Amino acid sequence: MKQEVLFNPQLIERYDTTGPRYTSYPTAVQFHEGFDAIAYRRFTDASNAELIPRPLSLYVHLPFCQSLCYYCGCTKKITRNPEHGQAYLKQLFTEIEMQGQLFDPDRAVLQLHLGGGTPTFFDDSQLEALMAELGRRFSLLKTGAREYAIEIDPRTVDAGRLRHLQSLGFNRISMGVQDFDPKVQKAVNRIQDEQETLELIAGAQEMGFESVSVDLIYGLPLQTPNTFRKTIETVISARPSRLAIYNYAHLPQMFRAQRMINANHIPKPATKLALLELTIGLLIEAGYVYIGMDHFALPDDELAIAQKEDRLQRNFQGYSTFSECDLVGLGMSSIGKIGDCYAQNYKEIPAWQSAVDAGDLPIWRGLVLNTEDRLRRMIIESIMCRGELKFAEYECCFGLEFTEHFAPEMEVLKRQAEDGLLELDDDGFTVTPAGRLLLRNVAMVFDEYLARAADNRPFSHVI
Ligand code: SF4
Repeated sequence: MKQEVLFNPQLIERYDTTGPRYTSYPTAVQFHEGFDAIAYRRFTDASNAELIPRPLSLYVHLPFCQSLCYYCGCTKKITRNPEHGQAYLKQLFTEIEMQGQLFDPDRAVLQLHLGGGTPTFFDDSQLEALMAELGRRFSLLKTGAREYAIEIDPRTVDAGRLRHLQSLGFNRISMGVQDFDPKVQKAVNRIQDEQETLELIAGAQEMGFESVSVDLIYGLPLQTPNTFRKTIETVISARPSRLAIYNYAHLPQMFRAQRMINANHIPKPATKLALLELTIGLLIEAGYVYIGMDHFALPDDELAIAQKEDRLQRNFQGYSTFSECDLVGLGMSSIGKIGDCYAQNYKEIPAWQSAVDAGDLPIWRGLVLNTEDRLRRMIIESIMCRGELKFAEYECCFGLEFTEHFAPEMEVLKRQAEDGLLELDDDGFTVTPAGRLLLRNVAMVFDEYLARAADNRPFSHVI
């Protein structure tokens, strides 16, 4: 994919709509309760029986946080009571044991991601016990090409804890910063010391973590281009290898926490656009490469290299360099992907706990992909990761004539080409530097479920 990106405010305004982030296709909205634990076991059995079974990727959801950030849209539980965490771990270990029995022990775990909530809500000994349990039930790797990542909250971690995480096998960390401005921090109820955060980033770099990723959010209450510039410049000075810059989506009807935010303090659309333009400009000027969606990386980071070499992939954690894994979701609300199925655990802790206590896999819902889903998934992944499509690749794999099969979609693509989002010819198309900020809009053309839900899309704005 071309690594250039061009900020075109008119185009962005014209294409400003809501849409999925395509960490999966079909998206979780299509999952249904007809898919159960029995169906899931069919897929795990089949995945073991393949000639060369795929390696594994594990996602563990740890939902607890000590305080509520008002912008939060994550699946989390706010508590200061450590007993809640201990009870959760007990059941999580049971689920890990059940899931571990489903996979051949020689299937190595190439990727591991602890997400939340706040995984570092748990103390060192609890995280150590968790890693030991995962190591007992799955083939964790100690060395070699592997991505073992944990989301940390800088307010709960110091250098000593970082060293301990490294000794447990983690080689990547990501941390939320969002904004260093004290007024913004107060407005979103996330007070996080700038100096401590910078020291933590520097500490992780010195210790040799392969990747240090920082999350920022634009569009938060009381943000202005001037204040946000300071935050970005400060973060850039710390040189994290990856940066994710998310758009704040104010959806108080969906996320109760956001009702605590004064809607009058949220930047107007024109200011949000200015914040985005500023962010992109500063990061590109500082040498960061635009990966896609909200992600930037330093040129020597694996994501940027994979993008340059057309090896970028997309999964539930966003962009990735590992494609061939089956994903096992562990913990409440987590989503797995085994072969051509998706499976999601119960989203509420009590339902998840009851299933585990009864000795059942806590699968709530899922989906088996049909041929059309697989075709469209490949297309959407190509757009999101490579920003291009070669029609012939799908014609031979799926036995179809591309422009005939996708006649209505071709009409939309022609309009997008006229608008400057892509360059279209008889063989395929390439997204332009101006269209790269609107990758989701191009991908949405091939989402056959989206048209049916046009009046009620539970998705965030594309910009
Ligand atoms: S943003 Fe992160 S730390 Fe804050 S409440 Fe949500 S999950 Fe917890």
